[in-house]
Amino acid sequence: MIYLKTDDEVELLREANLLVGKTLAELAKIIKPGVTTRQLDVLAETFIRDHGAVPTFKHFPNPYGEPFPASICTSVNEQVVHGIPNDVPLKNGDIVSIDCGTKLNGFCGDSCYTFAVGEISDAVKALLKTTKEALYKGIEQAIVGHRLGDISYAVQNHCESHGYGVVREFVGHGIGKDMHEDPQVPNFGKRGNGIMLKNGLCIAIEPMITLGRKEVYMQPDKWGIVTRDSKVAAHFEHTICVRKGKADILSSFKEIEDIIQEKSF
Ligand code: MG
Ligand code: MG
Repeated sequence: MIYLKTDDEVELLREANLLVGKTLAELAKIIKPGVTTRQLDVLAETFIRDHGAVPTFKHFPNPYGEPFPASICTSVNEQVVHGIPNDVPLKNGDIVSIDCGTKLNGFCGDSCYTFAVGEISDAVKALLKTTKEALYKGIEQAIVGHRLGDISYAVQNHCESHGYGVVREFVGHGIGKDMHEDPQVPNFGKRGNGIMLKNGLCIAIEPMITLGRKEVYMQPDKWGIVTRDSKVAAHFEHTICVRKGKADILSSFKEIEDIIQEKSF
């Protein structure tokens, strides 16, 4: 069942999503070698609750009915998604994908950004750049009259043309009062295929892209998803609303990238 959102509902979704961007920016301030992902989790949960929202990931069940034990997913290096925060300090040269979800006034925010820890290699920098570009290429296709496959194809084509792997097992999704609504939004597909995109359709587009092969497996904790070849993976996600001519991006990387910029001086 696909729920198209009213303009008022879109504004509520925007508020929840902007809070996610602000939360990720708070984390960006302290990301450096030596920081643990558990420290990031504690800061995120506090920040989200201080703003009157709930971290939607906390206690979200996996397919085995087990609740996620933290407020954000922190996926380090070869972890693609759903990494559980822990006490291992981040090292110079690591990357960490931080996926964050909020529920505010009954509506959900969902966005993810992959951060560099200290100095990372040029090869990994290029992966992050291409994955983020692919997200925006997908968003460019998310307009009234296009089809879902146009988004999927744009993401896949951009990443595969750079020789990267496109993870198949995890996909984007509709979003609204529930974090995961219909339709599924794969990062691979054919142009002109899939449902017609209508005004007010709100979806999370989230390329999960690997430096090597696309195959992944689940870690024994039944959450963390890692690449089979142990090469690193990137994950960028925006929540958007389909509109005529140009999608409305409801989440934001601006606050995050302002902090990253400040830290580089
Ligand atoms: Mg997410
Ligand atoms: Mg999502």
